[in-house]
Amino acid sequence: MAPDPDCIFCKIVQGEIPSAVVYTDDRVIAFEDISPSAPVHLLVIPVDHVTFLTGLDESSEALIGHMALVAGNLAIEKGIDDSGYRLVLNQGPDAGQMVDHLHMHLLGGGPLGGVAT
Ligand code: AMP
Ligand code: ZN
Repeated sequence: MAPDPDCIFCKIVQGEIPSAVVYTDDRVIAFEDISPSAPVHLLVIPVDHVTFLTGLDESSEALIGHMALVAGNLAIEKGIDDSGYRLVLNQGPDAGQMVDHLHMHLLGGGPLGGVAT
């Protein structure tokens, strides 16, 4: 999907607003959450402007799987693979989704308990 000029994460993908990028490839980028809820709080997002999980079909399976694998590799890089971590994908208002560009939170670096994003 083409970049959405009003989407903050599209702007990050295009380098129009600064972010602390920790990983990038042709399908996803990962960067530090600007308002971390845990000692390690990264966001893994598609390069393309994909909005919601709901509505995706099988053609997006590889993308979602790739996002999870990248998050898992970043957990290793951050040294939190043994201590544990959480992947969160908020969808819609009840989950508190604030940015309508699909994103996976990687949270860890300390006990998470009921930490929300
Ligand atoms: P969600 O509630 O799942 O939509 O999460 C959106 C996340 O994006 C929040 O954790 C925000 O702190 C984060 N966020 C919003 N703007 C930025 C930004 N410019 N750079 C990095 N993270 C951001
Ligand atoms: Zn976008």
